[in-house]
Amino acid sequence: MNPRSRRLCLGAAAGLLSSPLLALSSRADLPAPVAVLLAVALGALLALLAPTRRAIVESLLAAAALGLPLWALLHVIALPLLAGMEPRWTAAAMREVFPQLAGWILFQALLGWSFAVLEALVERWLGPAPVPEAPPVPPPTRILILGGGFAGVATAEQLERAFGGSAEVELTLVSETNAMLFTPMLAEVAASSLEASHITSPLRTNLRRTTVVRGRASRVDLALQRVQVEAEHGPSWQLGYDHVVLALGSVSNYLGMTGVAEHAFDFKSIADAVAIRNHVIDCFERADCEVDAEERRRLLTFVVAGGGFAGAELAGGLNDFVRGMLPYYPRVPRDEVQVVLVHGGERILMELSEPLAAYAQRTMAARGVTFRLKTRLKDATADRVVLSDGEIPSRTLVWTAGTAPNPLLKTLGVEVDKRGAVVTEPTMQVGKHTNVWVLGDAASLPNAATGKACPPTAQFAIRQSKQLARNLLAVLHGEPLRPFRFKPLGALCVVGHHTACAEIQGLRFSGLFAWLLWRGIYLSKLPSLERKVRVVFDWVVELFFPRDIVQTFELGSRRGGGK
Ligand SMILES: Cc1cc2nc3c(=O)[nH]c(=O)nc-3n(C[C@H](O)[C@H](O)[C@H](O)COP(=O)(O)OP(=O)(O)OC[C@H]3O[C@@H](n4cnc5c(N)ncnc54)[C@H](O)[C@@H]3O)c2cc1C
Repeated sequence: MNPRSRRLCLGAAAGLLSSPLLALSSRADLPAPVAVLLAVALGALLALLAPTRRAIVESLLAAAALGLPLWALLHVIALPLLAGMEPRWTAAAMREVFPQLAGWILFQALLGWSFAVLEALVERWLGPAPVPEAPPVPPPTRILILGGGFAGVATAEQLERAFGGSAEVELTLVSETNAMLFTPMLAEVAASSLEASHITSPLRTNLRRTTVVRGRASRVDLALQRVQVEAEHGPSWQLGYDHVVLALGSVSNYLGMTGVAEHAFDFKSIADAVAIRNHVIDCFERADCEVDAEERRRLLTFVVAGGGFAGAELAGGLNDFVRGMLPYYPRVPRDEVQVVLVHGGERILMELSEPLAAYAQRTMAARGVTFRLKTRLKDATADRVVLSDGEIPSRTLVWTAGTAPNPLLKTLGVEVDKRGAVVTEPTMQVGKHTNVWVLGDAASLPNAATGKACPPTAQFAIRQSKQLARNLLAVLHGEPLRPFRFKPLGALCVVGHHTACAEIQGLRFSGLFAWLLWRGIYLSKLPSLERKVRVVFDWVVELFFPRDIVQTFELGSRRGGGK
């Protein structure tokens, strides 16, 4: 017998046991068989109203409390109506049936007491009523995202949107940093236009239903479906998954030049940008009291390697920054300050059309940037940058000339291309591992719209995340998957003070208009309203005040790469 039926039977039995009291107290109004039937029905009702077992006293009091309304319902309203009379609302009429009230309260108390006693006896005799098994709820599908950059965060956001509050999936994101970096504005941080934290967006406030784990994924076991995560402080642990999304981005690739690896600044993270900014200010402080002219020149020569977007934007921004600092360092000779851009190709900004790239180079050269084109970097020491056609004495080298997909990808045992990016299906799955997904800089993914491999840009990483989330949802719901297809919108590059180049849907813009376009478009892409407001404030402040030259480290406690 199921627990509900058992309780109903016990309630009816308790009603039967207590019925003599009801029959006795209501004998003036109810025939005895009706009183017995009513008592049995009330016992069953009591069992329904109290679906779990109560203590004896509690059951007695709860049932007794129902005596008053039952008395009023039956003796004051129902019985007079059945007899064709008005309800007994008046005090005098109620007084007539008052003895029945005492009878009802006693009957109900006895009913509650006997029901609880019977339940306790039966439970002792038969054991507790079997608890019905809840209908099986399938465990949530565990989706683990590795990487908190553009691709990883956008994927988590898309999945949050797609699954809403559904318990169907459990989302976890592992990232080395606790915030997402908006790299297109990184040059402005290095050049002291923007406050560093304003171009980063905290993962925990952006992602509402994703568990964020700050740590470094050190091993991905595709066979056992688990990832080893190293915490900065404390032991490592394992995270299991049903689907894993690899959005591990890329790292600097020094092309085997150990001197460059040792002495150059990277330009990929917020820490890199802050370190560059501090170092540049430090060079000016040192140059200000340097008596050796050669050393002063070295301190005031800033070399950027790489003429792609990152290198050109950094060279343009740094050039504005160092020239803007000159009025505050009157002992620093203006003609000794140099920003040099070293690039292996014939022209910079291969991503833009030739006339626009030429415009960018002209504009930057007019503002003081020196170009060393068709020149390769060969090595670097603490005070020299060695080139294929000579040397530049300098204490500052920033490397933007080469990146490689995250080295962890090579340890997965899946196919990688010559750069080390995971070769994926057009759906972003990895060969036979249909629960392994890769996107962003980590993926070698064909674009169905062009038939070419996707370039490693944020624009593509964000678009890929949308398709990946749709495909993952389709897998879980047994629907067909779609290949990644995207027509790039264009390219934008800011090359110095109030100047930019833009190529959007075949249209070319340059100068102030392109610069305003650059700011407008990237501001709209910056995650969260709060960060947008902060960046706009920084830009407004920059219009009226000089760039900040406060060093944000203490002398003797410098950190970061570089010299
Ligand atoms: C200076 C600069 C300017 C740029 N400007 C533009 C631009 O204007 N437009 C554009 O489209 N693109 C631009 N890019 C390129 C763009 O930033 C990248 O293509 C984009 O960031 C790729 O996104 P991703 O998520 O694949 O990688 P990333 O954004 O690099 O994210 C990778 C994430 O994984 C984390 N991670 C790495 N290893 C581990 C690990 N083992 N465990 C846990 N977490 C790990 C990293 O900390 C990082 O958070 C720029 C890049 C740079 C460096």
